[in-house]
Formats: sequence, structure tokens, C-alpha cells
Amino acid sequence: MTDNSYANQCIRCTVTNCKNHNKDKNYCSLNSITVGTHEANPTQIQCTDCENFELKSDCNC
Ligand code: SF4
Repeated sequence: MTDNSYANQCIRCTVTNCKNHNKDKNYCSLNSITVGTHEANPTQIQCTDCENFELKSDCNC
């Protein structure tokens, strides 16, 4: 089971569907993340992705 009790205060995140999200606070529980893009030529915020996102197994989505 993932230990998501750590809140990395350098990585704020509101994606509660991610299994790496801190269970109590709006922070990531990882030591670092990689931000990438799925676009050839990113021009907007929507073009960027957290590449460490993993869907929570108990997510009702
Ligand atoms: S891995 Fe990415 S999406 Fe998931 S909690 Fe951390 S910063 Fe948020």
C-alpha cells in the first residue's frame, strides 16, 4: 500500500483522485514529481501533465 501520509510542502496539489495525494492536505506525498506534456507544442496550462499521476484504486470516478 502507498504511504501518502507525507505532505511535500514544495508540491501543492488538489488532485484528490491521485493515489499519491496526501490524504489530509492538498500536497503531494512524493519527494519529487515530473511535469511533462502530451502536446508537440504546448501553449496552455491544459497541455501540461503530472507524469506521476496514478488513479486511486478506491476512486469512484
Ligand atoms: S503525483 Fe502528481 S497528481 Fe498525484 S498527488 Fe502528486 S502532484 Fe498531484
